[in-house]
Amino acid sequence: MQGTIFSIEEFAVNDGPGIRTTIFLKGCPLRCAWCHNPEGISPEPQYMDKKGERTLCGYRITVDELAGQLLKNKDIYALNNGGITLTGGEPLLQADFVRELLRKINPFVHTAIETSGYAPVSVFKEVLPLLDLVLFDIKQMDPVLHKRYTGVDNRLILKNLETLCSSGNKFIIRVPLIPGVNDTKENMQSILKVVKGVESLVRIELLRYNKIAGAKYSMIGKVYNPPFDPDALPQINNVFEENNIKTIIL
Ligand code: SF4
Repeated sequence: MQGTIFSIEEFAVNDGPGIRTTIFLKGCPLRCAWCHNPEGISPEPQYMDKKGERTLCGYRITVDELAGQLLKNKDIYALNNGGITLTGGEPLLQADFVRELLRKINPFVHTAIETSGYAPVSVFKEVLPLLDLVLFDIKQMDPVLHKRYTGVDNRLILKNLETLCSSGNKFIIRVPLIPGVNDTKENMQSILKVVKGVESLVRIELLRYNKIAGAKYSMIGKVYNPPFDPDALPQINNVFEENNIKTIIL
């Protein structure tokens, strides 16, 4: 079984507990107007032009090969309560590969996934028991605004969020703060309504929009033209702390 990945980052410290290795899987069904990893959207390897140098972004790798590479460091992860985090793109777009990889590594290392939640409910339910932590991204609770800014309906995402909340799996909610798009008090209160009182919620992470991401678009032959002011500062409506939910702002 093979999958397509575009980066492996070692010593990551913001993708779950401890020191981690983060695997970036290619392909995403969303089209977020602020996407910080545009090279992760296409499921296929593609060329990137970096300062006049042409490099191939993305490659195929087997489950066994990747699991072997990752498990070599299992003692190091154990020493600092770290582990492996799968992200993308949307990792669940390569559901069979992700499931097989997790089956191989989860008995030996702490496993986490960062997901948009946009995956069939059956797929989401199947991978949950293989994960020690879920980093669940929520962009926008309002369905009309969600569709406008990400290109997809959010019903499936909210269904999977409901499943996650009742699963007992530990999870972190991540909200990218996009100025004038989703940083409103109303959006934060809608998220709060769903997660308030859920014991397995570890914390909320509010991620400030980083306009540097725009620089990657030209490298893959795309134009970055976000429908919001990338220079504006996002509002921090931290309704979560006010409700005794641990929150960090990154
Ligand atoms: S879900 Fe993530 S990878 Fe996919 S388009 Fe949105 S920001 Fe980009």
